Amino acid sequence: MLNFSVWGSLELHAFPDAKAVIRELAPDEPVLLLRPQAAARAASFFAKGFPGKSLYAVKANPSPDLLRVLWDSGITHYDVASIAEVRLVRQTLPDAVLCFMHPIKTRSAIREAYHQHGVRIFSLDTEEELAKIVEQTRSDAGVDAADLSLLVRLRVSSEYSELSLAAKFGVDLADAAPLLQAVRQHCDALGVCFHVGSQAMTPFAYVQALERVRAAIAEAAVTVDIVDVGGGFPSIYPGMEPPPLEDYFALIHRHFEALPISYSAELWCEPGRALCAEYSSMIVQVEKRRGNELYINDGAYGSLYDAAHVGWRFPVRSLEDDLEQPDEEFAFYGPTCDDADFMQGPFMLPGDIQAGDYIEIGMLGAYGAAMKTGFNGFGEQVVIEAQDEPMASLYRGDRADPRSSDNVVSLR
Ligand SMILES: *Cc1c(COP(=O)(O)O)cnc(C)c1O
Repeated sequence: MLNFSVWGSLELHAFPDAKAVIRELAPDEPVLLLRPQAAARAASFFAKGFPGKSLYAVKANPSPDLLRVLWDSGITHYDVASIAEVRLVRQTLPDAVLCFMHPIKTRSAIREAYHQHGVRIFSLDTEEELAKIVEQTRSDAGVDAADLSLLVRLRVSSEYSELSLAAKFGVDLADAAPLLQAVRQHCDALGVCFHVGSQAMTPFAYVQALERVRAAIAEAAVTVDIVDVGGGFPSIYPGMEPPPLEDYFALIHRHFEALPISYSAELWCEPGRALCAEYSSMIVQVEKRRGNELYINDGAYGSLYDAAHVGWRFPVRSLEDDLEQPDEEFAFYGPTCDDADFMQGPFMLPGDIQAGDYIEIGMLGAYGAAMKTGFNGFGEQVVIEAQDEPMASLYRGDRADPRSSDNVVSLR
């Protein structure tokens, strides 16, 4: 039996697709399928297409294999949020630029990041955090660091995003000016950053946030060197077809250019989901059918956290050739004994699907593998590379032209 962990480095040959995997292995554990070519394509799209620098938000999927794929495809900067992520990326990519973008850090994390891992870029949203950073980056001789890039996190609205991140972090616009002025005293480069929330379904989310950046800069009357529009760039899921990413890039660029900033100011973004959603999918087996509920061998405590907890609808397809009935709506139960291990869907699958059949669940590269646990003794997973296309893609070039698509809600 195949039995090794997500981070295992088993050298299995790449398979053409999920069907080839079940023909050869008939796996009774979930199989994580990796598509490095899809992550590479997403990374080059951002590296070449975004009108500024793209920082990969490591929390979306911290797999070292993925980090190397992104690096090889032109992503040089990494948004890390904990000292463990700092160590991981530094160890995996010795030359990467690390940006410590969690606004609340421990003193020891700041100290280790700066003195041992070469981190020079930090975000913050309070004067207390500024004091911590200044203190912990000071030399033994008591000299303040002169090479810091400090980004003030501004609170913005999450109203256009599927997953809100507005409540937790960010200084209110009303309090931003004094903080920007205080930070300016202690840094080489001053930045403003925000995060509109995850899976922002329209580029207007960024326009609205950039308006807030404009107001903060005007009020503070400081020179700003970096504007970081954060993450939130969408991927494609059933019922969530975003406008083309080119629209996001164009609108962000136009509004960035109109800000009252120095002519050499840099534009940054921090995509997580958009770079890695297409990187993996999963093969699961139906262990039991009860009406239109399927008991499968992965779930809320495995790679399907979002499907269970926020009702995210991932694409699914049957891997059986002999099913004949039209698709029906199904819900899934995961393998643990917990009632919460339930995914409402609805997931569309052939009406005659039954125990023993295999299903591929797509677009799990972002916040799927990253949130897996070993709860209840489940969590073993085989990892295999597949050569086919992901179940959906924003980068294949076969979507409607941005300017003729009726999906365009942005370029007016
Ligand atoms: C989570 C996070 C990101 C990545 O968000 P996505 O929606 O995955 O693009 C970027 N920046 C910050 C500060 C985050 O917390």
